[in-house]
Amino acid sequence: MKIMVSACLMGDNVKYNGSNNINNELINNLKDYEVIKICPEVLGGLSIPRNPSEIKNEKVINKEGIDVTEYFNNGAIKTLDIAKKEHIKIAILKENSPSCGSNYIYDGTFTNKKINGRGITAKLLNENNIIVLNENNYQKYLK
Ligand code: SF4
Repeated sequence: MKIMVSACLMGDNVKYNGSNNINNELINNLKDYEVIKICPEVLGGLSIPRNPSEIKNEKVINKEGIDVTEYFNNGAIKTLDIAKKEHIKIAILKENSPSCGSNYIYDGTFTNKKINGRGITAKLLNENNIIVLNENNYQKYLK
């Protein structure tokens, strides 16, 4: 089975600060699966590194106050295109991200406060019947 996974969880240096969120336990648990790595923010045209962004009032605003919603929407659409092409049914995406978060996101104040919410890509995949999990809750879905 193919599983879509946030590239930063697999160790790719695609995070806003040029680093990654490598999760060795996840990588080990995925060794029998075909992994399709994606980074919606890079797919959407943002650079590495880039300013961090948070969702506020349904827009994505970076730390400089610039509206970057269009990049995030483009990245979500491109990610969904890949998911459809690859017949993806499950995605494991990085929690808390304004693109990839599936249960929590930061609250838009850049003060490290989290609220219930979904990132732009996680929401679009969900709306297209793809199960979106994260690094904390994927275990029960993998056999
Ligand atoms: Fe990771 Fe998703 Fe952020 Fe890319 S957009 S760095 S894959 S959390």
